[in-house]
Amino acid sequence: MKVLVPVKRVIDYNVKPRVKMDGTGVDLANVKMSMNPFDEIAVEEAIRLKEKGVATEVVVVSIGPAKAQETCRTALAMGADRAILIQTPDDVGSTVEPLAVAKLLKAVADEEQPGLVILGKQAIDDDSNQTGQMLAALMGRPQGTFASKVEVSGDTVTVTREVDGGLETVALAIPAIVTTDLRLNEPRYASLPNIMKAKSKPLAAKTPADYGVDIAPRLETLKVSEPPKRSAGIKVADVDELVAKLKALGVAA
Ligand code: AMP
Repeated sequence: MKVLVPVKRVIDYNVKPRVKMDGTGVDLANVKMSMNPFDEIAVEEAIRLKEKGVATEVVVVSIGPAKAQETCRTALAMGADRAILIQTPDDVGSTVEPLAVAKLLKAVADEEQPGLVILGKQAIDDDSNQTGQMLAALMGRPQGTFASKVEVSGDTVTVTREVDGGLETVALAIPAIVTTDLRLNEPRYASLPNIMKAKSKPLAAKTPADYGVDIAPRLETLKVSEPPKRSAGIKVADVDELVAKLKALGVAA
């Protein structure tokens, strides 16, 4: 069984994003970029399935500017077998919307015929949490989102899902779509020898036109602004004063 893992290049989770002066978006010039953390978890899970002998091949795919090649190489250094980079013009950057990404992923899945597609539950730059669900709908395949455990047995994948009330377990017929939650696993670091080895693993360069998908944005961003600054706190002398202040704010009864 082949496993397909879409990996997105996003602003590194340690970087504090700066909004562009004209409010049109986040300034990505000279900012550290990395693989979306949920996608690292997806790559790790796919590699573990291969190590268990469940998966035969792990293919990663990234849609983004030329530099998304680095994201592909990171996944290859972790242990993926080959990569596909669907390159978008640099100015489109991270603005390829989930629907266009899902359409491209469907086209790749039609070609590759994976048993599982494991995506991140969300990309930390746009926080959309849409691509996996859209892909499942476009492919007409079952989905197990927010996975904290994934077990494959024969033609079934059992996914434990993190839902509001606790955990939900669903059994899906393969081929299926899974999206990862934080507690699924702890991704490995790529070792230096594996980083070197990754340089010679296959990376296919494609464009959205190769798949006949129009990636023009359907959404218009009206404005991007910084979150409001936190106002300074105050010190209270004792619990009575704290309760009185909370009551005044309507927080305590
Ligand atoms: P989103 O729906 O944008 O929050 O993204 C959810 C997941 O879809 C991500 O964690 C990735 O696995 C995948 N994804 C989204 N955008 C891309 C992209 N440009 N390239 C590859 N995978 C992507």
